Amino acid sequence: MRRWAALALAVLSSAAPADLIDQLRAERFRVTVRLGTAQPAQRLECSSRAVLRGDARQGLADVPAGQTVRVTVEETGQPPPVWRLLFGEFDEDDRQEARTLAGQVAGTVVREDPRDEDSDLLVIRGAWSSEGDLRQYLSRVRMASPAEPWLDGRPRREGLLAVRDESGRTVARAWGVLRLVSDDASATTQCHVNGDERRYRGSLVCVATDRGVLLVNEVPVDDYLASVLDTEIGQAPRAAMQAQAIASRSEALFNAGLSKFGSLHHDLDDTVLSQTYEGAGRETALTRAAVRSTAGIVLMHGGEIANGVYCTICGGVTGAQEDVWLSEPCAYLRARADTSEGGNAPDLSSEGAIRRFLEDPPPLMCNPEGREDYPSWARRHFRWTADYTAAELGAAAGVGRATRVQVTGRGASGRVTGLLIEGTSGEERLNRSTAIRAALSEVRSTLFVVDELPGGGFRFTGGGYGHGIGMCQMGAIQRAAAGQTPQAILGAYFPGANLRRLY
Ligand SMILES: [Zn+2]
Repeated sequence: MRRWAALALAVLSSAAPADLIDQLRAERFRVTVRLGTAQPAQRLECSSRAVLRGDARQGLADVPAGQTVRVTVEETGQPPPVWRLLFGEFDEDDRQEARTLAGQVAGTVVREDPRDEDSDLLVIRGAWSSEGDLRQYLSRVRMASPAEPWLDGRPRREGLLAVRDESGRTVARAWGVLRLVSDDASATTQCHVNGDERRYRGSLVCVATDRGVLLVNEVPVDDYLASVLDTEIGQAPRAAMQAQAIASRSEALFNAGLSKFGSLHHDLDDTVLSQTYEGAGRETALTRAAVRSTAGIVLMHGGEIANGVYCTICGGVTGAQEDVWLSEPCAYLRARADTSEGGNAPDLSSEGAIRRFLEDPPPLMCNPEGREDYPSWARRHFRWTADYTAAELGAAAGVGRATRVQVTGRGASGRVTGLLIEGTSGEERLNRSTAIRAALSEVRSTLFVVDELPGGGFRFTGGGYGHGIGMCQMGAIQRAAAGQTPQAILGAYFPGANLRRLY
């Protein structure tokens, strides 16, 4: 943070350092979710009266309830400069402080040079066509924090968004970003996403890209979760739904601080890369109850929101983060035994130990044996086999015809961290879950052993489905059925994390 941005923060807030939780509070615990992919045109229809706002939140036009507007990218090129209020200027390292300030002044964060990912972040608001108009505005209002008139002549890589009503009349134009916002908290906006008509709560943000208009949903995290829970867990005992709500809320808010999509306009997407999200049409009485009864509660570790990651079925032992993803160890994402008493996983890193564990498992929470209520689709993932011919495996690894497969590393949970596939035209080394599962689509997790079949093929014998990190959903369901509380369920999978209510 530099220059007079420091002054603005001193005026606006206490001496406490701005962190992710402050930022989220300023943004009223909203998350930003990319919806599908950019399209040449997007149609939006809000159930209540709404306002179209530009990139610096200035009002552009009213949209009556039930009226469809069509948004397109009209042209690319240099926009005319506009005058804005500038509240502060930040380095990339102080992105969270920039967002906190933007929340406090109802502004927005933009790059000084949108083409340069290293350029400074600016907190701005409004748009005036002349400095005189802006100064006139300043003479009439009392600002809550220091702000200066600023001529925005930034080069844009985005185009000009044009909004037309049902008669084809242009009702608004804006460079780069345009928001459809309603004051009615129960309003939903209908739009076409991933081949379906869907409805979303919160605001819809249109982002101009060189491939068309990208939709982003700015939505209170609890409205987001009421939908996510149905796609991610569906119907489950109350304590499992509540544990899922807390884990999902933690994962969403943890990622709100990461900007892993490298965009100022969204932190999450609507696929399994984040959490599957299909809008208000997926809310149910069960999901709403689980979200309401855990409102504001997140997993915390070391004073920070924890990544509440989860998987479908761990196979009896969860994985340490660094054994599955190429990442640093994480204190609360460790190899854990999915047994009723929980605790650290037994050492399964030897070939003999993991074979015994897969073939003759001890009593495990996510074992479907003898459980009538276990979902049939998940039942087949607890233990599985996948056979490859030498030709199939060689083709998958790009080594000709496979001649030998060797596990070169295992983590404490028994998960394969390195796999060597030799073939007639070379060899391939696959490291950790992402690379192994990307190459071998029949392999459902990295908790496996490999055997050569008579005749030259290879059999993978494994347990679980998915990355296997964090909360095991099938284990959580069985724990809930056995009477465990949401706190006990989460404690089994996130050692050392505790619960805190943020709002
Ligand atoms: Zn499990």
